[in-house]
Formats: sequence, structure tokens, C-alpha cells
Amino acid sequence: MAFRQKHLLGIEPLHPDEITALLDVADRYVDLSRQPNKHSDALKGLTQINMFFENSTRTQSSFELAGKRLGADVMNMAMQASSIKKGETLIDTALTLNAMHPDLLVVRHPHSGAVDLLAQKVNCAVLNAGDGRHEHPTQALLDALTIRRAKGRLHRLNIAICGDIAHSRVARSNLMLLGKMENRVRLVGPPTLVPQQFREFGCEIYDDMAEGLKDVDVVMMLRLQKERMDGGFIPSEREYFYRYGLDADKLAHAKPDAIVMHPGPMNRGVEIDGTIADDINRSVIQEQVEMGVAVRMAAMDLLARNLRTDREANKGVMV
Ligand code: ASP
Repeated sequence: MAFRQKHLLGIEPLHPDEITALLDVADRYVDLSRQPNKHSDALKGLTQINMFFENSTRTQSSFELAGKRLGADVMNMAMQASSIKKGETLIDTALTLNAMHPDLLVVRHPHSGAVDLLAQKVNCAVLNAGDGRHEHPTQALLDALTIRRAKGRLHRLNIAICGDIAHSRVARSNLMLLGKMENRVRLVGPPTLVPQQFREFGCEIYDDMAEGLKDVDVVMMLRLQKERMDGGFIPSEREYFYRYGLDADKLAHAKPDAIVMHPGPMNRGVEIDGTIADDINRSVIQEQVEMGVAVRMAAMDLLARNLRTDREANKGVMV
């Protein structure tokens, strides 16, 4: 089955076969990115605009690199300095940009649902680079590619996602993706940060790291999303690290070949011990960054193919 989406707004609408198709294309882009000449012309002639209304290091730079490797004209909007600051609404900004005929719009926004709204107003493919605590689809896809390459498969694995689940779009997108691919997911963290309603995703919930990590294949650690917290969710960072921070003792409960993941940015000594993060025999955190570029190349390539097909079908009329 081909990848049929017009936008990449979340993992929720994706069929498992579409996920597999995208990861297969991404595998090829990993190979290309390891060559001295990293260029392809999959996006040649197309315009990609990146709009980040929230700070980003990895995601923004990897979308930029991905677009450039595929030959697109890439523009980064300086959102801090944009007209939004002068009171322009998100929709007006979108309509202004739309008039410049972009083909791919990459958007990060602090409000859940803002990217979906924007996608309804423009005539191009929109990629969600993270909206509030809702979804971060390319993060889940790059995590999936990292797991598939490290474990040789992406099904029937036991995976623990640990930490601040409540405020995390990474957790939500991963839960959906890993569930669609028939893995068993556990959520591990203090009850204040792991709401019981997450059971609706079909996962088990633990508030004890030793139990939650027992015999898992993958340990995914998350950052405390302080910028999205409106109160005290943990007694202190010190105590949080003692109970929920990943160190060698806690990791010993997982399978001996379990891999350790983190989407970044990492807070060493809060959710993860620096020596675990740097242990190249266990940590795949740097691989995640590498896979991020390849997954974003694949996502933009596939969306651009659909965009071209739609435009062809509409006889050159912009859709
Ligand atoms: N970089 C990820 C995100 O944008 C994770 C994080 O910020 O903790 O959601």
C-alpha cells in the first residue's frame, strides 16, 4: 500500500502499511545521507517554508537539512520577529504565506490543534513539527525507524515510555504508532505525570521503575515539560531522579540488550544519568538524531509525490 496522505498532521490517521512504506523510504535516505554526495532532486523546484512558533534545535535543523538534501528551496520564517508579534492571527499569517505558493509547510506551534487548523487554510502539504501536547509525528516515526534498525523488527516488542507522559506530544504519537504496529507499551512515571486515561491507548501503567522496566526491549525516557506545567507535579528534581531517573541500577531490570532512547533535549541528572545517555552499547540517542533527517526526507518526498499527483489531476490548478 502506498502512502496516501495529503498532510502529515499526526500518527492517528496513518495506516500501519503507510508507516512501513515511509520507514522503507527513510531507510534509503539513511544510505544516501551517509554518502559523500548527499543530494537528490526529489523536491527540486519546490518551496519549503519552516514556521516554528516554539523553540527547536533538532527538529528545525533536521527539517531544513532534509529539504536541502532533496533540492527544495528552504526558507526559515523568523517567527519571533514575525507579524504574529504585531497581533496578526495564525490564519492571516497562513494566508499570507499561502500567497507565496509554498509546496511544503513545516509548522511547530504551542497550541494543540493549531497545525490542523492551518492545514485547512492553505494549498500545500503541511507537516506537523509538534503541536502543544497533541502530536509530534516525525518524532514517533524516527523513533520507530531507530527501533526497527536496532531490533530488526517493529512488532511484538515490550517498550517502556517513562517520565512526563501527561505533557508529552512525543508520548502520544509514540503510543499510537507503537500500538498500530502491535507492540506492548508500558507507561512508567509518578501518577501526577501519568494520567489513568492513557489506558485507553491499551497500555499498562506503572509507578515503579523496577516493575515497569522488567524485561523490556526498549526504554524511552522523556523530559519533564516544565514549560507546559501549571503547578507542582514533582516534589523536587533530586527526588524525581532518585525514583524515576534512568541509571544503571534501574536499567538492569530491562533485558540485557535493551536500548535506551530519548527525544532530546535531555536533562542529565533529572530523567537520565549522563553515563547511560553516553553509553554507546545501550544508548541510541545519536542514532535517533540521524534517523530524524532521513525520516523527514522520506515524509517530504512522499507528500510531494502526492501533491504533484493531485495537481496533475487538477490540470495544473493549485490544490
Ligand atoms: N523535542 C521534543 C518535543 O518537541 C521533546 C521535548 O521537547 O522534550 O516535543
